[in-house]
Amino acid sequence: MFEYAPAPESRDVVDIKPSYGLFINGEFTDGGGTAFKTVNPASEEVLAEVAEASEADVDRAVQAARQAFGPWSALPGSERAKYLFRIARIIQERSRELAVLESLDNGKPIRESRDVDLPLVAAHFFYYAGWADKLAYAGYGTNPRPLGVAGQVIPWNFPLLMLAWKIAPALACGNTVVLKPAETTPLTALAFAEICQQADLPPGVVNIVTGAGATGAAVVNHPDVNKVAFTGSTEVGRLIARSVAGSGKKVTLELGGKAANIVFDDAPLDQAVEGIVNGIFFNQGHVCCAGSRLLVQESIATELLEALKRRLGTLRLGDPLDKNTDIGAINSAAQLAKIRELSQIGEAEGAERWSPACALPERGFWFPPTIFTGVAQSHRIAREEVFGPVLSVLTFRTPAEAVEKANNTPFGLSAGVWTEKGSRILWMADKLRAGVVWANTFNRFDPTSPFGGYKESGYGREGGRHGLEAYLDV
Ligand code: NDP
Repeated sequence: MFEYAPAPESRDVVDIKPSYGLFINGEFTDGGGTAFKTVNPASEEVLAEVAEASEADVDRAVQAARQAFGPWSALPGSERAKYLFRIARIIQERSRELAVLESLDNGKPIRESRDVDLPLVAAHFFYYAGWADKLAYAGYGTNPRPLGVAGQVIPWNFPLLMLAWKIAPALACGNTVVLKPAETTPLTALAFAEICQQADLPPGVVNIVTGAGATGAAVVNHPDVNKVAFTGSTEVGRLIARSVAGSGKKVTLELGGKAANIVFDDAPLDQAVEGIVNGIFFNQGHVCCAGSRLLVQESIATELLEALKRRLGTLRLGDPLDKNTDIGAINSAAQLAKIRELSQIGEAEGAERWSPACALPERGFWFPPTIFTGVAQSHRIAREEVFGPVLSVLTFRTPAEAVEKANNTPFGLSAGVWTEKGSRILWMADKLRAGVVWANTFNRFDPTSPFGGYKESGYGREGGRHGLEAYLDV
């Protein structure tokens, strides 16, 4: 293989301030909690100090959102749409800066933040801007009403994209928002706060409160919040479901997954290999719908695995800001520890571990792309979400066995099917208990398409017309 010359994206396009406050009622203010540092996971360099919102700060944010709710919800949809279109255009104008900021704070390769995250963020705002004046035609009655104040808590794997998934439909429907980004990735949410100012969004319509789990809990449990939207771990999702039960708050939960990526013997192998790589190594495997279980038909298992290993040998791991990089940094030391632990358990339980020769940088949090073969369904690496670049390989003989193995999980977020036969795709899609089933592709997202899970992957749908329902009083 030939060598690539380094092609680093310039950091000069971003202006990271030494410290950030909370964004409440259209202004940046101090937080009552203890400020925390956000680091670049690729170098462990401190990027900025960020305010922690106390319960009293969250209360201020909810009050600001409540005050803004009356006038915002009374605006004609076409007026709300103007703000959303404006935000979408500013995101496009600032997309290079936002992509660099996302890669610095999260560790994901610039190629992904630039070509996947940011275009989808803008597309989400454009899409829901289009709905704002057409809500009466969305299938939720002739005069659909917003819910009020939405409390939203998002994770670190797609920081700005998860913000867009939450804020765009909420505002289009006439709600106001208090959003808490993840502790390790607050910077693009704070840049978004500046974008709200730039777009002249009325104060209080969007409030951003930074902090850790306690701040998230204060948002979710605030009595004046009408709607809770959460994306994150199943464990915290369970806590939230318990704490809001009986409160009358409307809830959507987007939790973990353990998706099966199923390859039949008639699949185009080269394409399937690309789909497997994209399924599990995209975003370092920090993807709730990642294809973390490869189910391959026994007759082609050897051939497919050889091709897959060859392909993994060509993946480049390293500086997230280098445009040649395929695999960036693991988002945090805690997540790296979890990936290491589950991988060690995989070996201890008898599965065979393989990674390509791959030099890891000395500083920062890194994990090589890893494949486990000889995996049994009872192994923890086949059952639990690793949330890292780790693939478990299992085999099957018949379509019925593939379905049974794929569905043998407490999760139900996504699945992939690789076959030449359209009839088999439809048969499988009907049988697979997963919110999204991709056919001959994987990890494809579009704002028009609803996304969400079954079982322990959560409930409610985000995206598309279905995503409006979560923010309307229906
Ligand atoms: P969490 O579920 O802990 O975090 C998600 C968000 O919820 C963060 O903003 C977090 O804040 C906040 N939070 C934490 N505790 C509470 C609480 N009690 N009430 C309200 N909000 C809370 O996920 P982690 O980031 O800790 O990741 C752990 C595991 O979760 C991963 O290994 C992965 O398996 C899974 N995960 C799944 C995701 C998905 O997309 N489905 C996304 C991220 C993680 P803070 O960041 O400060 O802790």
